[in-house]
Amino acid sequence: MLTDFFNQNAERLKNKKLFLLDMDGTVYNENTVFGGTAAFLDSILSHNAKYVFVTNNSSKSVADYVKKVEKMGIKANEDNFFTSTNASVMLLKKTYQGALIYAQGTASFIKELKDGGLNITTVYDKSAKAILLGFDTELTFEKLSTTSKMLCTTNATYYATHPDYVCPVNYGFVPDLGSMCFGLFKASGKNPIYIGKPKPQMLYSAMEREGVTKEETVVIGDRLSTDITSGYNAGIDTVCVLSGEATLKDIQEFQIKPAFVFEGIEKIIL
Ligand SMILES: [Mg+2]
Repeated sequence: MLTDFFNQNAERLKNKKLFLLDMDGTVYNENTVFGGTAAFLDSILSHNAKYVFVTNNSSKSVADYVKKVEKMGIKANEDNFFTSTNASVMLLKKTYQGALIYAQGTASFIKELKDGGLNITTVYDKSAKAILLGFDTELTFEKLSTTSKMLCTTNATYYATHPDYVCPVNYGFVPDLGSMCFGLFKASGKNPIYIGKPKPQMLYSAMEREGVTKEETVVIGDRLSTDITSGYNAGIDTVCVLSGEATLKDIQEFQIKPAFVFEGIEKIIL
């Protein structure tokens, strides 16, 4: 019988059809894949289920991610990923069919939005109906000031792909999109509607794309405030792994409890 860290019966995980997996801290640590990752992913496939890596990071394209995980020996193609950019395209397509959207982000972010069928401008345009920001690792002051002008002088609905304040790097952290939005709030008085984790929207969109129900889905991750909270907000089963950020003490103290706790994904052999 499959049991979790607290010896709780976790057999229902065997019936899941979609495994939404966080990446850093869950299947690898920075650039080193965890020993049990391949066996875990194989066991999902042998149960005729699917795994999709879910990430808030909108600075990299899905193609970039495929390359990154292939180097680590992880089997994945483009449809094994769902980024906050994918979720944004799905959401904005429904609301702004054909309408002009001002976007700021990396060149690969802008390309993904256009390839996804959105009508995008990256220059100031008063007629834009929406503003969408991604994590811009190619940020310039000119881009920032154009976005500021869009926010200050138009009533376009304002979105950002994800709310993370910082992004981990090998020496600590760099400011992420949430920090940029905080600076823009100081300039414009406006806050965005966030799309990525911990908002449930991202998971709703992933389930919609994969054609599965909440009951058939599970979210697995190492962060309580994003992975576990997003699953909880979306009404999906959650698994917290202890291979990354969250410790047992954090889990005890955090308001939202994961359905299951495992030391790492290598312990979840279906
Ligand atoms: Mg993580």
